[in-house]
Parts: sequence; structure tokens; C-alpha cells
Amino acid sequence: MSSPTVQHHQHDIVIIGAGLAGLRAAFEGITAGLDTAVISKVHPLRSHSCAAQGGVNAAINPKDNWEDHAYDTVKGADFIGDQDAIDLMCQEAPQAVLDLDTMGCPFSREDDGTIAQRAFGGANFPRTAYAADRTGHAMLHTLWEQAIKNGVNVYDEFHVLKILTDKQRKRASGVVAYEIATGTLHVIKGRAVLVATGGYSRVFAHNTNAMINTGDGIALAMRAGAPAADLEFVQFHPTGLKSSGLLISEGVRGEGAYLIGKDGKRFMSKYAPNKLELASRDVVSRAEVMEIKAGNGVDGAVFLDVRHLGKDLILERLPQIRQLAIDFEGVDPIDAPIPVRPTCHYTMGGIRANKFGHSYLEGLFTAGEASCVSIHGGNRLGANSLIEGIVFGKITGKEMVRYAKEEGEAVPQVEPEDISEVQQEISAIKATPAKGGKRVADLRDKLTESMQEHVGVFRTEDHLKEGLKQVRKIKSDFKKVYIDDKSDMFNTDLLGVYELRSLIDLAEGTVMAALERKESRGAHSREDYPNRDDKNWMKHTLVSWNHNRQGVEIDYDEVRTTGNERYVPVERKY
Ligand SMILES: Cc1cc2nc3c(=O)[nH]c(=O)nc-3n(C[C@H](O)[C@H](O)[C@H](O)COP(=O)(O)OP(=O)(O)OC[C@H]3O[C@@H](n4cnc5c(N)ncnc54)[C@H](O)[C@@H]3O)c2cc1C
Repeated sequence: MSSPTVQHHQHDIVIIGAGLAGLRAAFEGITAGLDTAVISKVHPLRSHSCAAQGGVNAAINPKDNWEDHAYDTVKGADFIGDQDAIDLMCQEAPQAVLDLDTMGCPFSREDDGTIAQRAFGGANFPRTAYAADRTGHAMLHTLWEQAIKNGVNVYDEFHVLKILTDKQRKRASGVVAYEIATGTLHVIKGRAVLVATGGYSRVFAHNTNAMINTGDGIALAMRAGAPAADLEFVQFHPTGLKSSGLLISEGVRGEGAYLIGKDGKRFMSKYAPNKLELASRDVVSRAEVMEIKAGNGVDGAVFLDVRHLGKDLILERLPQIRQLAIDFEGVDPIDAPIPVRPTCHYTMGGIRANKFGHSYLEGLFTAGEASCVSIHGGNRLGANSLIEGIVFGKITGKEMVRYAKEEGEAVPQVEPEDISEVQQEISAIKATPAKGGKRVADLRDKLTESMQEHVGVFRTEDHLKEGLKQVRKIKSDFKKVYIDDKSDMFNTDLLGVYELRSLIDLAEGTVMAALERKESRGAHSREDYPNRDDKNWMKHTLVSWNHNRQGVEIDYDEVRTTGNERYVPVERKY
């Protein structure tokens, strides 16, 4: 039962995460001739990107333009996104989609052969390209084919437990990863290290996310010395299936679906007279909660109605969501409305970075949902995440190539205590007795239910304080966490402890940031501070790890503006 020996590896570029952001960056590394490695705790094709349904935004239609895409994004973000990064993304978006098209991604087509696009929330033009309702699946498979074809090194089913730095935590140098099949520890060094580990929506009990979305990379980066930002901004998607939280894509409303209450009538005209069901997600989620509170829901849900779209369109463009509704809710949307409610979907916060993906720790880069570049500010627009992944995967990948060649020489050496610390952690977890101990699943359920209850769509000081109290209690109980499985092979029990640790760090950061932000902006809606307060709160929250106190602390960072007059904040109406 003793742990096998440690193995050492060295690459030019080390990428944690094999979703769209990680694989797109890997493509830049390998095609530039650098030794590039991708680490993923599941097989790359099981990354959450594969679950994306609705599509990817880019101004590829000649009647559209990137400036409008950028404005919609700035406004959707409730004016707290970083304008330099938003401009860059929207300019690069069309080419990024065409790159994927050239690689062979099977996008849906119009009759004239151009890439088909549908309407999405908060956008002034139907600019969401898609591959039926399986867009992420199509894109991820395409990038995976390219990675294999070009010879990427893959550490698949390796779970990263630590990001390595020098002693002063000034320069990243690689990772310690746990080989899931054997329990062997691997030190994987790189001149440039990318965190592309996705989001942490699993911190809420009711969510649309894969089990693996526990925010490990964000929590590990904070511990390594790279602060996170804007953790208080959590997106609740208006159409999660009532019972399971599984996602019914916004693309369904893009195709013309209605939201109706118990009375069978559409209600969005009260909340967003112009955009109706296609207002931004924060607006629609709040509307649903208010309808449910006013008694116009059934069993805590409202309904998504597609019956008027007709069987043919549903079967052609929405086959997957129809099947999900049948399998998980027992409803065939061709004949009956689907019960839905707001469900945690996306975390706008992540590792703070500039528009080239540099975090605040030298040598550590970040892209995709794990990052806070910040494109989405207070609220992400639907279909802006896949485009963020492929645009900033590409840009950050190129920047890492440059960095690895020009500045990446001085990789700090790995100290023996870096490894022994992880070994001791694992031994201590295995040695904790069951008697008087706490189970991972029990603590995780308490944590996610507490977040659901106290840090949801609407927030108040009292609720947030109670939430923080409960999170801190769970954090204290976590010291007594024990596992039944003491073996080295496929010990998911052990890895569950590490995932829970990440969730606890991020929960603490989320509640503290939400408690401090005394205004309502984007998805952060305070009943006790109902207005946006640009004078005091036009700033990002920074969340850093304090090693002495073993907890997070809050600071602030400025919003990067470009002086574009169009971006002057106005009240956000849809
Ligand atoms: C159901 C659903 C539908 C969606 N639909 C859309 C949509 O239509 N359009 C849109 O724009 N966005 C959509 N989104 C959001 C979007 O899919 C994600 O934000 C995006 O795909 C994230 O990509 P990523 O590359 O950042 O991370 P992910 O795809 O989440 O990949 C994370 C990677 O990190 C690895 N990893 C994590 N922790 C570790 C660790 N400790 N060690 C090793 N590896 C690790 C994982 O194995 C995985 O490979 C949807 C999200 C969901 C949940």
C-alpha cells in the first residue's frame, strides 16, 4: 500500500485542462514546434466543453460587425468587463470560428453553404454559430483530432494536486499530478504553465455542470500566488430542468420558445419588454424567481414551451434537448411544456489575467472558464464562453510560445519539500480515522446546499452572513475528513477530498466577495442594495490566498477601459 516512486518530466509548455481552451492553446504550442503537454483528470473528450449545446458567438455574417458584438458583451457584463479584452475577442472571433471550420468542425449550414447562426440572449444580431444542439461536442472533437494528429503529449486521467513555484511564490515552474490508475506522483515541469481547468458551478447543489467542475485550477493557482477575481458573479441559467438541473440550451429560446407560468401566459414582457425571453440570463432568471414567488409557478418551476415551433423543427434543430426532457423530466416537448427553473451554470470569476492570459504569477497563464480576463464581467452572454475558449486559447497559446522561447529559461528547480508536502497530505488523509471523522460526500452536500440557500439568485446581508458561517464550519470540519479507500489504484475517494478542498476555498471566496459588494450588478443581485453603484463599485474583486491564515482575503483591481464613448455605462435594459 505504500506510494510508488515519484516520476519527473520536463516540457516547454504544460497545460492543465483539455477542454476547448486547453486544446486550442496546445495546438499553438505543438504547431510552433514546442514540446507541449496536456494534463486532464478525465479523458479529454469528457471535458465539460463537450456538453455545450447552443453555440458560439462571432460576427461572421457580413451584415453584422465585431463592434456590435463587443458592445453587446460590454453591456451584458453590466459594464465591469475589461474592454481591451472584449474588443480583442470580438475582433478575433470570426477567424477563430473559421479556423475550426477549416480544421473540419461540422457546423450546421444555411442552404447557401454558409455557417448557420441563431439568435441568443442579450445580442442585437443572430450571431451564434452552431452544430445542431451539440456545438461543444463538435468543436472539442475537432480540436482533439488536431492535438493527436500534431503529436501532443497527453497525461490523461492525471489529477493535478499542486502548482509548483519557487520558494518566494514569484514564478510558476510546473505541477505535481497524481496518476489516477496507479497513485504515482508525477512532477511535470514547464517553461510556461497554463491553467485551463474550467469553472466551479458544482459549488451549488442545483447546477448544469459536469461532476468534474470543481474549480481545482483556480483554487490551486490562488494557493500558488495568483489571485482570482470576481468570484461573487455566478451565472444562474434560466432553463435548467426542474428535477435534475440539466441544461436546456438558450438556443431553444433562440429558436422561438416561450416562457410561461402556471396561467399558461408568457410573462417576460413585464421584465424585458423588448427582448422578452431573449433578455440576458440574469434578467430572465430573476423574472422566473419573481413569478414563482408570486405564485405563478408549479412546484418551484415555470415552463418552457416549444410546442408552437412544430415537430419538424424540434427534431431537426433541437434533438438533444428533446431527448433530455423525455429522459430526465418525462416530458416530450413536442406535446407539453418543459418545467424549468434557474440553475447554476457558469462562474464569471476566475484567475485574474490580462488579455494575453498572463496571471499575476510569473510563468502562469490562464484561459477559458478558469480565467477572469475579464470578458464576462458581472454576467456572461450565452455563447460567449465557447468563443472565449477558442479565441483566448489561441492568443494565450501564441503568447506562451513566445514566452517559453524568450523568457522561459529560468524555470526554478523543484525542491524536495514540494513533493514531500503532497505525499504527507495524502498520508494524513489516509490516516484520519473514521471514528469522529467526516465523510467527503456529507460535507460536500452541506456545502452545496448552503450555497444554494444563501448565495443564490437574490442575496441579502443576513443570508450571506449565514452562508459564510456555514462555509467556515464546513471548512473546520474538513480537517477531520476521512476516506474508506486507502489503496493506490483508482482512488477517487482521495481525489474527492482534493476537489472538496477546492470547492471550500472557492465557496469562501464567493461568499466573502458577495458580502462585500454592496450593490446589484449583473448576476450579483442584492435585495438590500438593489441599484448598481458605479461610483464605488466599478472595480473587480480580487481574491487571494493567505498562507498564514489558511484562508482567502479580499482586495480590488481596476476595470480596464479603452475610452470608447460607446462603452459609457448606462442603465441596462432589454
Ligand atoms: C451544459 C452546458 C452547456 C453549455 N453550453 C454553452 C454554449 O452553448 N455556448 C457557450 O459559449 N458556452 C456554453 N457553456 C459553457 C462552456 O461550455 C464552458 O464555459 C467552456 O466549455 C469551458 O471550457 P474550458 O476549456 O475553460 O474548460 P472545460 O471544458 O470545463 O475543461 C476543463 C478541463 O480541465 C481539466 N481539469 C480540471 N481540474 C483538473 C485537475 N485538478 N487536474 C487535471 N485536469 C483538470 C478537466 O479534466 C478538463 O479537461 C455550457 C456549459 C454547460 C455546463
